[in-house]
Amino acid sequence: MIVCKFGGTSVADGAAIARAAAIVAGKRDRQPVVVVSALGGATNDLLDVAQRAANGNLLVALSIVESLRQRHLTTTATLLDGSPERDDVEAEVSAGLDELAHLAEALSTLGFVTPRSLDSVAAIGELLSSRIVAAAFRHRGLDAEWVDARDVTITDDNFTRAAPDLPRIAAATRERLRPIVQAGRVPVVGGFVGATPSHITTTLGRGGSDYSASLLGAALEAEAIEIWTDVDGMLTADPRLIPTARLIDRIRFDEAAELAAFGAKVLHPSTIAPAVQRGIPVYVFNSRRPEGTGTMITFDAPRYPVRALAGKRDKTLVKLRSARMLLAHGFLGAVFAVFDRHRTSIDVVTTSEVSVSVTLDDASNLEAIVADLSAFGDVSVEQHRGLVAIVGAGLSDGAQTMAQALGALGDIKVHMASLSATGLNFTLVLDDAQVNPALQRLHATFFPEPA
Ligand code: ADP
Ligand code: ASP
Ligand code: MG
Repeated sequence: MIVCKFGGTSVADGAAIARAAAIVAGKRDRQPVVVVSALGGATNDLLDVAQRAANGNLLVALSIVESLRQRHLTTTATLLDGSPERDDVEAEVSAGLDELAHLAEALSTLGFVTPRSLDSVAAIGELLSSRIVAAAFRHRGLDAEWVDARDVTITDDNFTRAAPDLPRIAAATRERLRPIVQAGRVPVVGGFVGATPSHITTTLGRGGSDYSASLLGAALEAEAIEIWTDVDGMLTADPRLIPTARLIDRIRFDEAAELAAFGAKVLHPSTIAPAVQRGIPVYVFNSRRPEGTGTMITFDAPRYPVRALAGKRDKTLVKLRSARMLLAHGFLGAVFAVFDRHRTSIDVVTTSEVSVSVTLDDASNLEAIVADLSAFGDVSVEQHRGLVAIVGAGLSDGAQTMAQALGALGDIKVHMASLSATGLNFTLVLDDAQVNPALQRLHATFFPEPA
């Protein structure tokens, strides 16, 4: 059994979904389970509908609903031309968009959105795309069956970034997915979307379809998890920033996890953990070039000092200075408890005798965090910081690679530097505006163009 996940651009329109059908048809004998994202860009549009409706722009919101309706209906018509199912699928698509319009009206009356209502809106993207894809696969001779993601991806109720309930997911996949596969059929499930045990719709967070694929793959003890996207695999840097970035043929789980956590959008940061637990290899392939060799992510890829670079922008740096920290035990624990209490995760930490500096992934609870930290000492906040991560299993075999990295940065100011305890991620905190130039310099140093 394998899991094949198709991202937004890989199901963006009729032609893309037809390519996905051909890819899955070629893997029929490996018992594929298919996970799909919303049509490319649809999630952004859906969230826009919710925000605009709540902000009093109902007419604009409803016009976006209509453009989403047209787009989904055009895709359906292209794919299901001549299919006896076409009318039914069109009716389902329209019903989904009618529901969206009702939600928009409700939000405009309320005048605000809640995380729970955002999830109900955002989930519509994957619920529709998965239905369209299942019918399109059937029309192309694949025995596909749509499965409601809310029946299998069971989560807690931390709306907009819900955490999976692994035992329930295991039980649900045994009950809902395995029998379909065993009958020689192909289940098609929406990624990103889940539900609480009491059937309230949730989502796993932006980009979460990769995570759905690895959760279901782990629950099914799949042989492989395939992430089909719009680039040839994992590359040595984001190709949008570094056009000369190179394809990585094999990379280790821990390296891929660091890259994902530090901004390599090609994988959702949580994708690797479920695969590691079961030792399931993860592959990244290009759905536009299915003949490509892609990237294989496993335990035992060759060690390099630097395997790839990643970067993140728009981070907040919080510094705490306190003489009480000197020789005191329990101090750091109390400080980190503050971040835990405000459900805020930290990217990078450095400490000295009398100070702690951390960068926050998400600063939405900053005010409350600063208020709580002030009880320990002087707090300062620096906005517009960025991170650059230099990742390689052999990075800290000697000091040379880190020296080379700092040398490559030249006059770019480094606010903070941290070598992960695993020794495979050297992270630098810079000004936001310096992230791209830094990545360019580092890439030219560690991945020079052949002369
Ligand atoms: P999907 O919709 O298929 O999930 P995403 O847009 O989420 O696709 O992820 C693919 C994108 O990730 C690529 O188009 C690329 O710009 C970006 N990316 C960032 N870092 C990397 C990297 N190291 N290797 C490959 N792609 C990367
Ligand atoms: N459609 C969702 C998003 O855009 C999930 C995903 O594509 O992975 O965030
Ligand atoms: Mg993605």
